Amino acid sequence: MRTPGTERPGELVASLKQFLNAQSVAPTKTVHCAECGSVLRYLPTQFWLEGCEEGWNIPLPYCPDCHPLFPVSGGTFIS
Ligand SMILES: [Zn+2]
Repeated sequence: MRTPGTERPGELVASLKQFLNAQSVAPTKTVHCAECGSVLRYLPTQFWLEGCEEGWNIPLPYCPDCHPLFPVSGGTFIS
């Protein structure tokens, strides 16, 4: 008979926290897009883990020319 809730993924959450901590303090160097050579921009993205109150603000790199998916200039969206 199994009791639900006794096996908690504590180790997984711990390693996820480690990963997120490492990412949030990673140095933001100037990186160029491999496709077009444009300077990649960084989009601050909030991450939360379910069950954790703390969050992470991690800069995600993206190319404004190849992937203009984010409204970076006053909400302008190029389709
Ligand atoms: Zn590009």
